[in-house]
Amino acid sequence: MKWVLVFPGWLKRLAFRFVSAITFWPFILVKHSHLKADERLICHEMIHLRQQVELLVLPFYLWYLTEYLVRLIQYRNRHQAYVNISFEREAYAHESNPDYLSQRKFWAFLRFLSSPGK
Ligand SMILES: [Zn+2]
Repeated sequence: MKWVLVFPGWLKRLAFRFVSAITFWPFILVKHSHLKADERLICHEMIHLRQQVELLVLPFYLWYLTEYLVRLIQYRNRHQAYVNISFEREAYAHESNPDYLSQRKFWAFLRFLSSPGK
């Protein structure tokens, strides 16, 4: 089950320019309605939904923010810090595989903690 909604106006104003979608379990919010048909983007966000469920939602956000700050110290670059968060590494690595979630193992994002950086 997935609920894909378009960003409300206030979120469009708050969102960074490079953000096309945000996942707030159980919703996927996309910046523009045409992005609802972007299979790769939706697959990426569905991986984040699974990660959020596995971590009981709130700890996911705490982990995400904490790892972002650690990666920011590590890479000293906001974009590199973001793409190297383990949740993002997993989502980017498998966003082109629509069958990924059916074969994915529990807490699979842990394998991406120590992946080589981008
Ligand atoms: Zn992502």
